[in-house]
Amino acid sequence: MTIARVALDCPVDSLFDYRSAGRSPLVGQLVVVPFGRRRQVGLVLEVADHSEIADSRLRNIEKILPLEPLPDDTLALIRFCSEYYQYPIGQAASVALPAPLKRVRYGEPNSQWQYVLTEAGRKLGANDFPTRAVLKRRLLETLREAVTLSHADLLALSGRGPALAQSWVQAGWVEKRAAPLPDHPAFASNAQHELTEEQRTAVDSVGAALGSYSPWLLEGITGSGKTEIYFRLIELAVGRGLQVLLMVPEINLTPQLEERFRDRFPGLRLVGLHSNLAEGERAANWLSARNGTARVVIGTRLSIFTPLPQLGLIIVDEEQDASFKQQEGLRYSARDLAIFCARRRRVPVVLGSATPSLETYHNARSGRFGHLHLRRRPAAARASIRLIDTRGMAKFGGISDQALREIGACRGRGEQSLVFLNRRGYAPALVCNACGWNAVCSRCSARLVWHLQDAALRCHYCGHEEQLPRACASCGNQDLKGLGHGTQRLEQSLGERFPEARILRIDRDSTRRKHAWTAMQDDIRGERVDILVGTQMLAKGHDFPNLTLVVVVNPDNALFSSDFRAGEKLFQQLMQVAGRAGRGDLPGEVLVQTQFPEHPLYRALAHQDYASFAEELLDERRRAGFPPFVYQALLRAESQDETALMEFLGRAASQAATRSEAVTLYDPVPAAIAKIAGHHRGHLLVQAASRSGLQRFLSDWRPLLAQAKSGRVRWSLDVDPIEL
Ligand code: ADP
Ligand code: ZN
Ligand code: ZN
Repeated sequence: MTIARVALDCPVDSLFDYRSAGRSPLVGQLVVVPFGRRRQVGLVLEVADHSEIADSRLRNIEKILPLEPLPDDTLALIRFCSEYYQYPIGQAASVALPAPLKRVRYGEPNSQWQYVLTEAGRKLGANDFPTRAVLKRRLLETLREAVTLSHADLLALSGRGPALAQSWVQAGWVEKRAAPLPDHPAFASNAQHELTEEQRTAVDSVGAALGSYSPWLLEGITGSGKTEIYFRLIELAVGRGLQVLLMVPEINLTPQLEERFRDRFPGLRLVGLHSNLAEGERAANWLSARNGTARVVIGTRLSIFTPLPQLGLIIVDEEQDASFKQQEGLRYSARDLAIFCARRRRVPVVLGSATPSLETYHNARSGRFGHLHLRRRPAAARASIRLIDTRGMAKFGGISDQALREIGACRGRGEQSLVFLNRRGYAPALVCNACGWNAVCSRCSARLVWHLQDAALRCHYCGHEEQLPRACASCGNQDLKGLGHGTQRLEQSLGERFPEARILRIDRDSTRRKHAWTAMQDDIRGERVDILVGTQMLAKGHDFPNLTLVVVVNPDNALFSSDFRAGEKLFQQLMQVAGRAGRGDLPGEVLVQTQFPEHPLYRALAHQDYASFAEELLDERRRAGFPPFVYQALLRAESQDETALMEFLGRAASQAATRSEAVTLYDPVPAAIAKIAGHHRGHLLVQAASRSGLQRFLSDWRPLLAQAKSGRVRWSLDVDPIEL
């Protein structure tokens, strides 16, 4: 008897035993099994010849899905995720699989099968079929001539071709087998540039490492030619019959990027993998990567789970980007998993960034990663960054006179400018000057943001919305004031100051309509816009050739954040925004308005000297005992009942205290936003000097957490959290 140990999508850590009734499934295959009163698709992770479960209680596998088993690498990745991120194995497997594959009624994708005659089939002759059985005779004849037929070939024969072939499979005349991996496909590459010396070094170094594990940091500002290097490496790897995985941040996965790839590599089989794809398309792309048809996968964090049998290279662009870390469920870091996969598969992994995460930077500094550096922009001058000291300076709607003058001059030259403010809405607070009341969300510990167009107050945390009140809810005063600036207010002020200018605001509100953002990008490229006002949606990846001036309005808040990563993130973000200026033939200029021009962050920014800033931060982190010098995990919890929440965290802490030689426990505290949508939130930070020490502790602790939990609390563990 064969027992399959199956991972099922439920919050249980162990595998479930099933008996195979007919053919035994292979490790890595998907099976349909009864689970409770329903049926579920599960992933076979082990096959054994006996079970601890009494025979009478064992249930049978209903069906093996007609798919090749997942490769070992994918299974290893799933197991690693489950262990490292302290997440149930079946749920981890579920994250890794495209939705259609997890359906009990999985529709077999036809493209991956080939049909050939079996021994018995070859013995058939035309005369075994009556003359009127035209299709049968044709099928036999065609199979003899062509040897292998694809699903498409069968369809070409007749609409009933596939069904007939299937019945011959049953009869034992035809064998249906997975299409073999395709040979190295031919593809053209339209190389455009002579590489610079720095680029050449980068391509040669990584190129020489193909076929072995080697991690690289590729550091270079926007426009320094990183994408060009990715192109060359892809050309090299695909030319050797290898597959390449290129991961990019969610927001960078623009049609322009795919277009750039298709322009460069006409004929290259390249697929996208991200959550904006329709389910079916995502599954089809996943399968074509899995069967080797797709040579290059470009995707967001979830693409790390794509099985790539001929993987030869992984590239993670903008590796510092927070979107590589999943913030719910399986809280994985796709960047870190990329390194895991590269090591396991013995392939190079390239982490590209203008401003690497300190984790990566530290790895490069300490020699664990190779460090490649692009210091020049081959096609454009580096933008200059200047600070505007706004202390005691007159401002118009939040924008300094100096910045307004430059925006005017920029318009005068027929060029575009961007005013960057990472806060949407009109004003981030509505206050009563008479009594000090301010509008807060009744369900969250957050202020309501005033939105101008629809005269509404909105909560940016829970989405709650109410009408703008006419008077103070506390004292009845009718003179309410909007405090601070949001993008809508900047848009308004700029409109007053530059009445003829075409101003476009880009934030989550203005781009909510489907395709709105795409249409706006066309308007910007078509130079139907003079001044852009926008949030971080505009900071990344977009290349607007006529944009030469960037004004950053009041980014100072981050300097006083309680998050020890705030400075790192601010620098990264500002460098990214700065990268928007002057990408074409036009030199760029960046103005940063601040009240703290002496702050080391701004001083380093003005010199575009990430290295010295990063060194300083690393030094601070070493002294203070923060990552990357220690390893952290966060127990997050939430509940509608604040007392239950804090009690749970308290119990979790006291249970941990007895087994915490290797780890430091911090006190349970409310989260930065202590309540969202009626749910109180709190956490408990655990820290250790070594990854393995932390891992051992977490494995011990997690079962206790399940016991410490009372019904009203939801909790999760976040290993290597990037947000507290
Ligand atoms: P990044 O990815 O670092 O932002 P890109 O690779 O997109 O940089 O390059 C920026 C611009 O410079 C692009 O327009 C690209 O075509 C051009 N470029 C890249 N490498 C070279 C080179 N060696 N010579 C001339 N132009 C180059
Ligand atoms: Zn009042
Ligand atoms: Zn709210």
